[in-house]
Amino acid sequence: MRNCVIIGAGPAGMNAALYLKRGGIEPIIIESDVPGGKMLKTYKIENYLGYESIDGGELALKMSKQVKGLGVKIIRDKVIKVSHDDKFVIKCENNEFISDYVIVATGRIPRKLGLKNESELIGRGISYCAVCDGAFYKNKEVAIIGGGDSALTEALYLSDLCLKVYILARKDLRASDVLQNRIKNKDNIVILKNVEVSEILGNDKLSSILLNNGDRLDVSGMFIAIGGNPELSFLDSLGVELVNGYIKTNNRMESNIKGLYAAGDVRYKDFYQIITAASDGAIAALSIREDV
Ligand SMILES: Cc1cc2nc3c(=O)[nH]c(=O)nc-3n(C[C@H](O)[C@H](O)[C@H](O)COP(=O)(O)OP(=O)(O)OC[C@H]3O[C@@H](n4cnc5c(N)ncnc54)[C@H](O)[C@@H]3O)c2cc1C
Repeated sequence: MRNCVIIGAGPAGMNAALYLKRGGIEPIIIESDVPGGKMLKTYKIENYLGYESIDGGELALKMSKQVKGLGVKIIRDKVIKVSHDDKFVIKCENNEFISDYVIVATGRIPRKLGLKNESELIGRGISYCAVCDGAFYKNKEVAIIGGGDSALTEALYLSDLCLKVYILARKDLRASDVLQNRIKNKDNIVILKNVEVSEILGNDKLSSILLNNGDRLDVSGMFIAIGGNPELSFLDSLGVELVNGYIKTNNRMESNIKGLYAAGDVRYKDFYQIITAASDGAIAALSIREDV
């Protein structure tokens, strides 16, 4: 039986594995972290059908248990290069695999503001994940940068821990009505629209941020939630077609390289959600099943 290597154990990769295994194909998943992807960085998920409300970590665990229960191996390693000869060669930090098919499901990494001091102060006041780092800012004042669903979800989570939470949005809020209404009921959340961070101040830790309207906010934490970009340098030798840095696929999740598929946030598309990532994974697996 031909085999398939899935890179990434987020919802896209895990659902691809489930469909492949049930379709009689033996996949393995290579994951550089614990299985779950961005779900592990999400406080509450309320838009995944079947769960009215579930912790991101709990949903991640349920998915990985289901996939492992089917006998799929999730190998902890980081893919550093994929090349193609007769078959795909997937080179990791500690292992190397040969496979007929590859599904890239590596998601995206958080986008930075690109300001001076930003990289230096990561972990010293600057964070890209409220669930991971929020506890360090208990009873302190923090700012969230962004106006989409992720930013507001992060703000809600932090509002239960922090004294005050500023939401700084470049334009208007883009988040769903449900989240915007919930924010309105929080006394300790302040929304500032049409503002941008122009400077990050602090030597060994964040002390304040300057805004483009001249205001200064003295905050201990700044959480940046302005989306992300895929990190695909491991595909450099293959000539994979990209659109705005994302893998271009057709409706079957096929890239321009025969046998190489992409699913989830790593793929160029309109909507980046858990359910759309899981759906992409299922489609990639079913397409491979038809091709075998
Ligand atoms: C703060 C936040 C809140 C969100 N809230 C919601 C929500 O409420 N509802 C919703 O539907 N969506 C939400 N989303 C979006 C959702 O989480 C993503 O759309 C979804 O997780 C994408 O799944 P994925 O499998 O494509 O990628 P990911 O979940 O990002 O998983 C990719 C996996 O690939 C692994 N990986 C990356 N590179 C390599 C490599 N080189 N080698 C091996 N492994 C690698 C990563 O470690 C990761 O585990 C939220 C996102 C964020 C950031």
